[in-house]
Amino acid sequence: MGKIRSHIVYKTKKYKRNTQLSFIRNTNEDSASSLYLCAMKIGILGGGQLGRMLLQAAANYQVDTYVLENDQDCPAAHLCHHFTLGDIKDYEAVYRFGKCLDAITVEIENVNVDALEQLEKEGVKVFPAPSVLRIIKNKILQKQYYQQNEIPSAAFVVTHSKDDLQKHTDFLPAVHKLGEGGYDGRGVQLIGTAAEMEKGFDAPGVLEKMVKIDKEIAITVAIASTGELKLFPPVQMHFDQDLNLLDYQLCPAELTKSVLWKAEAVAQAAAKHFKSPGLFAVELFIDADGNVFVNETAPRVHNSGHHTIEGHYSSQFDMLWRIMLGYPLGNTDAILPSVMVNIIGANGFSGPAVYEGLEEVLKIDNAFLHIYGKKLTKPGRKMGHVTVLSQEKQDLLHKANKIKNLIKVRT
Ligand code: ADP
Repeated sequence: MGKIRSHIVYKTKKYKRNTQLSFIRNTNEDSASSLYLCAMKIGILGGGQLGRMLLQAAANYQVDTYVLENDQDCPAAHLCHHFTLGDIKDYEAVYRFGKCLDAITVEIENVNVDALEQLEKEGVKVFPAPSVLRIIKNKILQKQYYQQNEIPSAAFVVTHSKDDLQKHTDFLPAVHKLGEGGYDGRGVQLIGTAAEMEKGFDAPGVLEKMVKIDKEIAITVAIASTGELKLFPPVQMHFDQDLNLLDYQLCPAELTKSVLWKAEAVAQAAAKHFKSPGLFAVELFIDADGNVFVNETAPRVHNSGHHTIEGHYSSQFDMLWRIMLGYPLGNTDAILPSVMVNIIGANGFSGPAVYEGLEEVLKIDNAFLHIYGKKLTKPGRKMGHVTVLSQEKQDLLHKANKIKNLIKVRT
């Protein structure tokens, strides 16, 4: 550390004309002594809550932040240095936004990958590499990636249409997944019997064998440009069956040692084969026999890592900045076990958001409230979250329940 600091002082004098100062890695030099000061501009495609929390963590570092989003009132708009109104799915908008940046990242996969590929060719660093986004944003390619790299994932067949789907009744019970455009469970249909085939999508997708899920967990893997790799402890997700949304999430997940090791090895392999630096949230199913299957990977900061802000020494957001700025990776250990509850727009209410119960929640010991600043609520919309820290699992579950009953987002 001393070595880095003394180098910074030296370079500060040398490059004193720079007004926005941050570190970038000079590839001609090595390790800590290669850090020098110059302006570094980093952009985020998407201005939702993930972008907002990423920007909160950026405030600790010397970095000039940019956001592209087509809503100037989005959660991240007021926390970045430079906001650009534009469509993250549009080639021109993404290319123009990115061409003057040093690096760019995403808070969602559904972005214009062609533009990111062009930017990468022109020397802009993209986290994760555009090739990763191309694979992830299409569930057919994603499943083929796991298969080709011998990463355990449920068996599947590719389907092109609803008619095509009918040919695979022998594959049931199964889960039909839309190739592109599904999110938060909205591109997924559980199909138990031939009569339920009607629920399938009339578009390219995958039909995946139904896993008898015992636990759903997620492991975030951080990979630096140097190849340094760290894993966050696994979190266990519990879903609201009606809304098909996360109900609460516990960290660490309760796993036997052998399942934990298996899950860590699988998560690491799933992220490493992309051959790209970045942050990878790997969602996994564990069945009753302790078999581990990858469900999907998000190559970015993710809902399953919200609790790391208060619960871990380095949060997922801090970690992504470290990766993009070329710093050493942070400490992923938990400070205390945690539970995270999403604050979701209540059923039957659409319009300007009003929050009930926040004061009561703020009275709870070691409860940390995050409101994302979305003006409008609608049923199922993610409006905020609360993380609680405690040594005792019973205390965490009790408080998670209390919070869910206290908070209501309505109009
Ligand atoms: P999304 O990306 O839209 O969130 P997922 O692929 O994560 O969709 O699937 C949503 C949920 O559907 C999962 O959390 C899981 O509960 C269930 N599911 C998905 N795939 C399978 C499977 N192969 N077997 C059993 N359940 C599954």
